[in-house]
Amino acid sequence: MGNIKEIIVVGAGACGLMAARELSKKGKRVLIIESRNRIGGRIWSLPKSKFNFIAEAGAEFVHGEAKITQSLIKEAHLNYKEIPDWAEFWRYKDGRLNKASMEPANDSQTVNDINIKLQNLKKDISISQFLKKHLKNEKFKTLRERIIEMVRGYDAADPDKISTKSVYNEWLGGQNNSQGRIREGYGALINFLQSECRKNGVKIILNRHVNTFKIENKKVKIFTNDIGNYSGDIAMATQPVPVLKKFLLDSSFLKEAAFLSDIGFGGIIKILLGFKSRWWISVNKKLRNLSFLFSDKTIPTWWTQYPGRIPVLTGWFPVLGHEEFIQKDNKKILDLSLSILKKIFKTEDGFLKKQLISWKIINWPADIYAGGAYSYVTVKTEKTKKKLIEPIKGKLFLAGEALYNGDEIGTVEAALGSAKEVSKRILKL
Ligand SMILES: Cc1cc2nc3c(=O)[nH]c(=O)nc-3n(C[C@H](O)[C@H](O)[C@H](O)COP(=O)(O)OP(=O)(O)OC[C@H]3O[C@@H](n4cnc5c(N)ncnc54)[C@H](O)[C@@H]3O)c2cc1C
Repeated sequence: MGNIKEIIVVGAGACGLMAARELSKKGKRVLIIESRNRIGGRIWSLPKSKFNFIAEAGAEFVHGEAKITQSLIKEAHLNYKEIPDWAEFWRYKDGRLNKASMEPANDSQTVNDINIKLQNLKKDISISQFLKKHLKNEKFKTLRERIIEMVRGYDAADPDKISTKSVYNEWLGGQNNSQGRIREGYGALINFLQSECRKNGVKIILNRHVNTFKIENKKVKIFTNDIGNYSGDIAMATQPVPVLKKFLLDSSFLKEAAFLSDIGFGGIIKILLGFKSRWWISVNKKLRNLSFLFSDKTIPTWWTQYPGRIPVLTGWFPVLGHEEFIQKDNKKILDLSLSILKKIFKTEDGFLKKQLISWKIINWPADIYAGGAYSYVTVKTEKTKKKLIEPIKGKLFLAGEALYNGDEIGTVEAALGSAKEVSKRILKL
């Protein structure tokens, strides 16, 4: 069984739970320490009573192929439901609503043009540099706007930092861009992992905030907000990047903390609005198949539960450039949401307030256990990640969505993938 018997995992998100399952399956004793009063981390499925369906406060979609997630869905006997091809994307611009497409460029000529420019790109640069340098021609104006909109909205990224190659791989490289949801909610996947862990004897402690770690006498010691500490042969830290950075800094591992600054991390406020009916269809019959709506407003993206008929709209508010909202009262964010929807759909005064029956605003950047939403690849990330693969002093492995080696960084797939990668390395010790 090797020398490694006891492993401490910090964080009971998708990564921590998956790693604990993998390690405990092979006979390791695993303890998970979690700061929240719940498991799941950035996966947080709300009880059905809140919106009359299982609404997602955090991760909602399964993106693309997502092999590990899909195989876990099967193993847990859950149901994946893809958003159908006929779901519609609309855009509100200059006072008008028009049908749109999800991809920034879908005509082969443009994709070809960009391909050639990318092939000539010797060194990775930020997307804003790339657009300025290589797509400055007037004929690319709309494309430039779409790419920036997508990078800010979808990737929650700063266009001055995100890597051009990563944007290309995600959107223009001809990969599978399908999206779907788990019918029973992402939380069901988390519950499945938890039950697997319990079967294998994993211990999970909630409400315990990990502050620092120390390596002493071939053991790794974890210090929490509780008296005493926890000791293991190996530890795995799965906190989100900003929290992980603080953990390393407070433990005096300054160089490693500095490396984490090369991984981008964006902030999103998610807005859930439950209405009496799907009023947008009565306002405009053409919106029957509305899935996503993009706009040039402060809260730029909205989506429905299509093909589900649930009368809920979800708002997606990237805080880059609007950082003052991180501290704002949720009621103010609700008022802003309703005023934006009123403008887009041209509804009458008071109509939306009468329609609204429940709401929830999840301010992820204000959440001290997350510090934002998810990571993205900057021009420095790939090089830096290689430096973070080796365990610190041979004892503390860094893991989580941001440290995954594949392309899906920032997703649940990446969190699960990182768990598998790091567990494999621990099992070889
Ligand atoms: C609003 C939002 C929407 C998203 N949408 C999608 C989507 O549609 N599809 C998708 O694939 N991904 C999505 N994501 C990203 C996805 O949720 C994450 O990539 C994934 O859940 C990360 O899992 P993780 O285990 O790496 O990190 P986390 O889930 O953050 O787990 C880390 C755990 O560590 C705990 N922790 C933090 N600090 C400490 C401490 N000091 N001591 C002890 N415990 C600590 C946290 O509470 C947390 O439980 C979304 C994220 C957000 C925020």
